[in-house]
Amino acid sequence: MNAPLNISMPAEASAAPKAYKLLIDGKHVEARDGRTIERSSPGHGFAVSRYAQAGAAEVDAAVQSAHKAFEAGAWPRMKASERAAVLLKAADLIESRLEEIARLDALESGKPIAQARGEIGGAVDIWRYAASLARTLHGESYANLGDDMLGVVLREPIGVVSIITPWNFPFLIVSQKLPFALAAGCTAVVKPSEMTSASTFVLGDVLLEAGLPAGVVNILAGLGSDVGAPMVGHPLVEMVSFTGSTRVGKMTMAAASSSLKKVSMELGGKNGQIVFPDADLEAAADAAVFGGFFNAGECCNAGSRLIVHEAVADDFLGAVKALAERVKVGDPLDDRTKVGAMISADHMAKVAGYVTAAKNGGGSVFSGGGQLASNAGQYLDPTIVGNVTEDMEIAREEVFGPVLSVLTFETIEKALHIANNTPYGLSAGVWSASIDTCMSVARGVRSGTVWVNTFMEGYPELPFGGYKQSGLGRELGKRAVEDYTEEKTIQFHRGQRTGWWVG
Ligand code: NAD
Repeated sequence: MNAPLNISMPAEASAAPKAYKLLIDGKHVEARDGRTIERSSPGHGFAVSRYAQAGAAEVDAAVQSAHKAFEAGAWPRMKASERAAVLLKAADLIESRLEEIARLDALESGKPIAQARGEIGGAVDIWRYAASLARTLHGESYANLGDDMLGVVLREPIGVVSIITPWNFPFLIVSQKLPFALAAGCTAVVKPSEMTSASTFVLGDVLLEAGLPAGVVNILAGLGSDVGAPMVGHPLVEMVSFTGSTRVGKMTMAAASSSLKKVSMELGGKNGQIVFPDADLEAAADAAVFGGFFNAGECCNAGSRLIVHEAVADDFLGAVKALAERVKVGDPLDDRTKVGAMISADHMAKVAGYVTAAKNGGGSVFSGGGQLASNAGQYLDPTIVGNVTEDMEIAREEVFGPVLSVLTFETIEKALHIANNTPYGLSAGVWSASIDTCMSVARGVRSGTVWVNTFMEGYPELPFGGYKQSGLGRELGKRAVEDYTEEKTIQFHRGQRTGWWVG
């Protein structure tokens, strides 16, 4: 159990909350009905931001603006090299404001500042990667259809895209979507989470400064029910790119189906790290702690199930527990912090409830186990639960907190069975010195990403997304821009058409 936390108040605590207006058609505007949302810093408990709160009227105005920018504006029509130049300028501007953006994300989400800096740095890299894809996007041609026929397949931007993002990686996730949509020539309406909207509003300013024409990107803060839902239902929206929970993802897909919009879904995960006796157990133990507790476990990729071979389980868990107890939990603004605050008191209670239910169901808490006493904010102690069986909720559901469940196995078949025994399929890890073992697991696991002797690394070049109920489609990778396009087939016939139908 960590000692009680003494959280000091940052300078922002004694200032008024920072105000953010909606971005519609290149202008910063208040909501028509004057409503606002106030966000309290989960690490400190003071009002950090106040956003204008959009509703259906603002959604319509934003979509109309994006539609106009698509139908008649310069963005979809300019050369890809010109779009790439704007994206590269945006990347430079994000880099120059990295500290400010990281601090906003840390204050609003409770994540550690050092980690937030890494995320914004990663986002800069993604914007640059998307700029490169803008210039390499191309279609196909078919000159093998006979002498009189030339087939050309164009990649055209799909149109207005609704982008809806969650609270756990506020700037990084919008950066996995928007630059690729823009690279393709699309226009967009973006809705960040109502708890972490500030950094997305800064992104709006960055884009205008980088030269993005008005209306190409519109940004709305607001609730899922009154902003997200109409963004999905609006008839002028052609595609919905959603990251969030599997529950809301399903609702979103169902709503999008009534107008047959294209959807891209990045949803929840219940990821396993499988550890074999011949692994580098020291490295695996560190990765187990990282996988379980990074971003306070509020991470779709969290390695929330540790699946350990029985032969090494006791020793390995001893090493994991020793490391877990050294993880520094505390003030998100402290450079040394590894685990910050939980996003909300409600969410924290939900996570603690999973631990209590596991205890009542026969699980045993090896380490941590509850809320940490603190003078401000809400914090959970990193927790390891052993004696977990596959049927327990804690082994099946996305706990989304700093809680590691431990399950054991004797054979590779059993390890794969455990890893796959979940409706999710986002990611997995395998630790072994044997290439045969690693390959068997990597091939046998039903998930979009498998890490071999490492965990939770990411590169813009590598596609990311889920099998099963973890999602639909992939983000990143060289096809990320294609996702925001339609294919158009054009057939050019030379000379008089032959083989007339009626004659
Ligand atoms: P959430 O599903 O509650 O909300 C996500 C977004 O959807 C928010 O902006 C929310 O306001 C909006 N929303 C809510 N109701 C809506 C509706 N009816 N129509 C349209 N939009 C609506 O998720 P969350 O709690 O913000 O984020 C955590 C979840 O996100 C976890 O399940 C996590 O695994 C998942 N996630 C997945 C990935 C991935 O890449 N696979 C990445 C990060 C987070």
